[in-house]
Amino acid sequence: MRLSELPTGEKAYILKVHGSGAFRKRLLEMGFVRGEEVKSILNAPLKDPIKYRIMGYEVSLRRSEAVMIEISMLEEDVLSFPAGQTEKEEPDVLAEHMQPEYNRRQRRRRGHFHHDSSHRFIRVALVGNPNSGKTSLFNLASGAHEHVGNYGGVTVDSKIGRFYHKDYTIELVDLPGTYSLSAYTPEERYVRNYLVKEQPDMVINVVGASVLERNLYLTTELMDMGVPMVIALNMYDELEQSGSTFDYLALSRMIGIPIVPTVAKRGQGIPELLDEVIKKYEGEDKREQARIPYGRVLERAIELMEREFTNVDISWLHLPLRYLCIKLLEGDKEIEEMIGGLSKRDEIFACRDKERVYIEKLLREDAESAFANARYGFIEGALKETLIEKSNIHNKTRILDAIVTNKYIGFPIFFLFMWIMFEATFRLGEYPMQGIEWLVDTTGNFIRSNMANGPLKDLLVEGIIGGVGGVIVFLPNIVILYLFIAFMEDSGYMARAAFIMDKVMHKMGLHGKSFIPLLMGFGCNVPAILSTRTIESRNSRMITMLIVPFMSCSARLPVYLLFAGTFFSRYAGLVLLGLYATGILLAVLSARLFRRFLFKEEDTPFVMELPPYRLPTFKSVVIHMWDRSYQYLKKIGGPILIASIIIWFLGYFPQNPSLAEDRVAEHQEQSYIGQIGKCIEPVMRPLGFDWKISVSLLSGMAAKEIVISTMGVLYTGDDSNQASLQQRLLAETHADGTPVFTPLVVLGFLLFVLIYFPCIATIAAIKEESGSWKWALFSIFYSTGLAWMVAFLVHWIGNLWI
Ligand code: GDP
Ligand code: MG
Repeated sequence: MRLSELPTGEKAYILKVHGSGAFRKRLLEMGFVRGEEVKSILNAPLKDPIKYRIMGYEVSLRRSEAVMIEISMLEEDVLSFPAGQTEKEEPDVLAEHMQPEYNRRQRRRRGHFHHDSSHRFIRVALVGNPNSGKTSLFNLASGAHEHVGNYGGVTVDSKIGRFYHKDYTIELVDLPGTYSLSAYTPEERYVRNYLVKEQPDMVINVVGASVLERNLYLTTELMDMGVPMVIALNMYDELEQSGSTFDYLALSRMIGIPIVPTVAKRGQGIPELLDEVIKKYEGEDKREQARIPYGRVLERAIELMEREFTNVDISWLHLPLRYLCIKLLEGDKEIEEMIGGLSKRDEIFACRDKERVYIEKLLREDAESAFANARYGFIEGALKETLIEKSNIHNKTRILDAIVTNKYIGFPIFFLFMWIMFEATFRLGEYPMQGIEWLVDTTGNFIRSNMANGPLKDLLVEGIIGGVGGVIVFLPNIVILYLFIAFMEDSGYMARAAFIMDKVMHKMGLHGKSFIPLLMGFGCNVPAILSTRTIESRNSRMITMLIVPFMSCSARLPVYLLFAGTFFSRYAGLVLLGLYATGILLAVLSARLFRRFLFKEEDTPFVMELPPYRLPTFKSVVIHMWDRSYQYLKKIGGPILIASIIIWFLGYFPQNPSLAEDRVAEHQEQSYIGQIGKCIEPVMRPLGFDWKISVSLLSGMAAKEIVISTMGVLYTGDDSNQASLQQRLLAETHADGTPVFTPLVVLGFLLFVLIYFPCIATIAAIKEESGSWKWALFSIFYSTGLAWMVAFLVHWIGNLWI
């Protein structure tokens, strides 16, 4: 029987996980291992995905993924199911497996990598599952006197904070959350590479006490890697509330690693935790970190693998030999590549292949499951002696989930919440926005009336102040949006929103979490692209980012209103609706196209944890919000500013002193942008666009509403009078007397405005979030090319037809 067939409310036991690669590995890490009990809790309103409970926490799986898991309703089946290694080693056997060379290695490392001659500088990395409380710990530990900077990796970010504790300067790094350290997802790779390359002096492994079993899986991997660590037993308050008792000191003795209970969101236990870090760093903690015993068969395989490495120098890898062998046996591609250059690689790989076959034959399960099982076996054994568990089902969570993911009211609640968020972001945001605009204008006017005329003054007023204005007008939107997103993420509702939207989004090849950015795109593409951060899978994130610009943002609306109102007055509403719908349609088609050709694989399966609901603290929400707004200003502000100045420059020069002040239109025509517009006119001709339209579109690259003010200048010599602009547009003719704006041209033009080059701020956001110019450029060419094609088709087909 397959897990997908398990009726809601029923329990079963896992026999086997089929499938391959990242997906299968992730399932194993998440606790879908043989013998584990799993219960089907709830179907999403659209019947897919399904929520399951396993190892005391909740997770959602798509139906197509649950099919891969073989189960049985009878416990006996699990016991008789052909698989070896049911023996779970008792913790006291551990003494034999100690790693005597460990402390020496650690010292050597430290000698190599110290940063401060006083030896009082400790670099500490936070490693833990998503949602275990790393960021809370980071924020509270680095506190007020921190230096928070954001250091973008390729796909994932880590935050660095520096602060003092006792006589030490501690540099804390908040790494992305991971369930394990295999090389399947970008986060996992990032964290592992960070540990190997940066060699932090100490790792704080943040372990969520409410889901101990699964959280400790990562701990076992860290132990294999031999990194020096201290465990923060976070969310200790939840553990106490549930009535469970946990003898963490006994566990600490068993594994030889200090464990400190913490309540990160209130800052409790953090000083004690840091004390332990210092103690361990100074070598006062003499205990050796234990070694995970993998059972007879696997240990033998590891041993044989280790033997292959005799006389091979692998010190440059900075990884313990045992870890290397385990990972090779598990089929880790990245480690395989690292070893690829060794002269003995053929022997090593041959041995590995042989051992993998041998393991499968003896244990009747492949090496990957065998290792995952052994790790969970070790954890179970250790917890059996130390944890007395009371049912940890969060009642509050159960009730809330029954409402929020209900078949009938789940969607209405979700849409109501989205509506509130949208309205607040854009409508409430409008007031501070007007304030900012006023401030920008006032400053501009002040300079205008107090400075001598000349290019410098114009640069200052129109280029720089205008540019800065263009950057900070979005700030209110971003702050408000992030307030909501921070609340949704921290409370746990975000995961539910993704849960109920997943089926619809999956049809587009996307993830449930893509819905929110796309919706925000109707307000403004910039915060929408920034909010794609919440999507874990890089491929889904990239696709979402690239299709957000097709969501018609509010800056495009004035253009639509002017043209639809002028040329299709009776059907203006219909045209407007059609434009929005076209945008959505193009987004769907592009998403499918990108999924098909550019981002083929789903790099992270949908297996998504549904954390219990938690009331976020005010402080964490504010920090989250501030962080994003600051990032926006710092990273996206620069490019927008520079690009605005460039566009201003192109429109301003060359100056022709013989032209009178008020002949703006002629000036525009002779400026660089006018010349470029005339240059590209042949390209735009097939669409029926003349050079004035081309120039307007060019300056619209800064922001789409500028299309109108440019047209105002070009057609009437005045950028503010809309009524006269309407008259002029209607009356505008080509040299031969035929009207420029036929309905077909207008339609093509509106579609072009919808689709082409989103705007500088959006491109800057794409560059920042994707981590490379490549995708920003791709977005420019893709959207502009598509815009041209659509407008061309409209023009061409329309002309055939009429
Ligand atoms: P991260 O994903 O590991 O960075 O985890 P976060 O720091 O974002 O925390 C996830 C959620 O757990 C948030 O809602 C926090 O407010 C909450 N949280 C963090 N630490 C604790 C704690 O010690 N106790 C409780 N009850 N909740 C916590
Ligand atoms: Mg975090």
